[in-house]
Formats: sequence, structure tokens, C-alpha cells
Amino acid sequence: MKRGLAATLLLLPVCLLILAGGTADAAAACKPERKVEIATRGGPAYGTLQYHRMAPLKMKEVALTFDDGPDPHTTPRILDILDANCIKATFFVVGYYAERHPEIVREIAARGHTIGTHTWSHPNNLRHLSLAAARRQIRRGFAAVEKALATAPAADRRRLAPFFRFPGLNDSKHLMGWLGARNIATLSCEFGADDWKRISASQVRRRAVRNINSVGRGVIILHDTKPHTAAALPGIIKDLRKKGYRFVQLTPAPGARQLAASAHDALISPVAVAKKDVPELRGTRHATADDILEPAISVQ
Ligand SMILES: [Zn+2]
Repeated sequence: MKRGLAATLLLLPVCLLILAGGTADAAAACKPERKVEIATRGGPAYGTLQYHRMAPLKMKEVALTFDDGPDPHTTPRILDILDANCIKATFFVVGYYAERHPEIVREIAARGHTIGTHTWSHPNNLRHLSLAAARRQIRRGFAAVEKALATAPAADRRRLAPFFRFPGLNDSKHLMGWLGARNIATLSCEFGADDWKRISASQVRRRAVRNINSVGRGVIILHDTKPHTAAALPGIIKDLRKKGYRFVQLTPAPGARQLAASAHDALISPVAVAKKDVPELRGTRHATADDILEPAISVQ
């Protein structure tokens, strides 16, 4: 017994060290339970809260998405919670914050999550802006993420997906057409958890689980800028796993990023890619493993 106790005490600091600092290793060791590939050709819209199409999730599958970050306080907390539970999510980042906290954007990518964009400065309704200003908002959002990832390894740079989410989910037919011409998908959701409101962490937990359970599968919007969301997240994960849910990761379909990058007036730039993975680009100059280009977007 004594020897067992001594061994436990000896191991305790190691365990604490792993819990506290082993984030990169923990992230590398984690594989998503399933990757759900999102087709982006022509800019389809997903999320039955607004559209007829749902991301191809099976029953009892949930995809976590986090909007409005990166936030220097809560985003790292949320990343640690996701690692501790071996979950890969999608972060719809705001360009302005990506530019201020590029190291967190790189951290999101390094830990294997998918990154989408959510405009430059999160105007609540892009329809209230001129078309030129709205397009600039979207373009600068993508450009800011590319800039943040410019010094990251190619594999991490590829975490930027051709996914866009409208602030407040306030879409516009015109802008969706504009995004579609650039092969960028619009991602809405099946449900939220009201975590943008002033409610407690336990309310966020209850509403998230209730809403997911009412549909049985889907994409949920949460906010990685909210401390009560970070506080609620472990409980949400625990409750859903107890009910038999699996957490899946939204990822672009093979070739989707390159499809977007090869569009006229593209919003994202090409990155290294194996030729065999990109049927659309076979034989073109983008399709080589060494073809890592700097972002081709100029921010005004
Ligand atoms: Zn938002």
C-alpha cells in the first residue's frame, strides 16, 4: 500500500504537468471522432436554422463551432478544454482580433481545428453596408487569418477553410452569390445556446444540451469570447457524451481550398497540396507539393 501511495505521489506532478502544459502533445495525439467533409463548389449554404441543407452529420453527431474570437482570455481556455476531451471544432474568427492576436490563430491551427472567417470587424448586418464595404469586410476577414498563419507550417495554414459565417447570421442573397462565385460556403447552424446573452454557465449548458437533443444532430454555434461558455463547455461535453453523442469536425471536402484559391478574384490563396488530391487542378501550376505561395490578397 505504502509503495502504491509513493508511486501515486511521484506520478502526481507528472500528471499535473501533462494537464497544465501538455497541450500541444495532447492536441497532436487527438484525432477527431469523424471528419465531416463540406462541399464548397458554387458556395452552398448549410444550417437548417436558415437553409434547407444540413452539413452531412449522422444522428447523434454534433459539430462544435465557436464565433467572434480569438479572445486572449477565453479562447486558450476553450482550446484546452477541447484538447482534454479530444475534440476538434471550427472557429469562425473575426479579422480584427486575428490581427491583434495572431499567435492564438496559429494555436487554433496547430491544435488541428478548422478555421472559418466571420468578417473583419463584425458589423451586425452586412446588408446595412454598401456592397463594396460588405465585400471588403469579408475579404479583410480572410486576409487577416492568412496573415496570422503566414509564418505557420503549411499544414497549419491549410486549416483555413473556405467557410464563411455571416455576423448575426444576417445573410444577403447578393453576398452569398459573390461568395459562391469564389467557392466559399456559407455556414449557419442547427442551433445555438443563447450564450451571447447574459445568462449563467449552467443555463448555457442546459440550453445547449436541450437544443441539440431536440434535433438529434447538427452544428451548434457557441462563442469563444464568453467566459460563461468556457465554464459551460466541460458540462455540455459530458452531458452529450452520456447521451451517446459524438463530436465531429467540419472540414473542407478534398480540393475545396484549392478550388476557392483558383477562383477569379479569390478570397484565399493557394497552399502546398499533393497533385493527386486535387482533381480540378491536375496539370495546373498550383498542383505541386512545393507550391506554397504568400497570400495574394492586398488589404486596403
Ligand atoms: Zn458573431
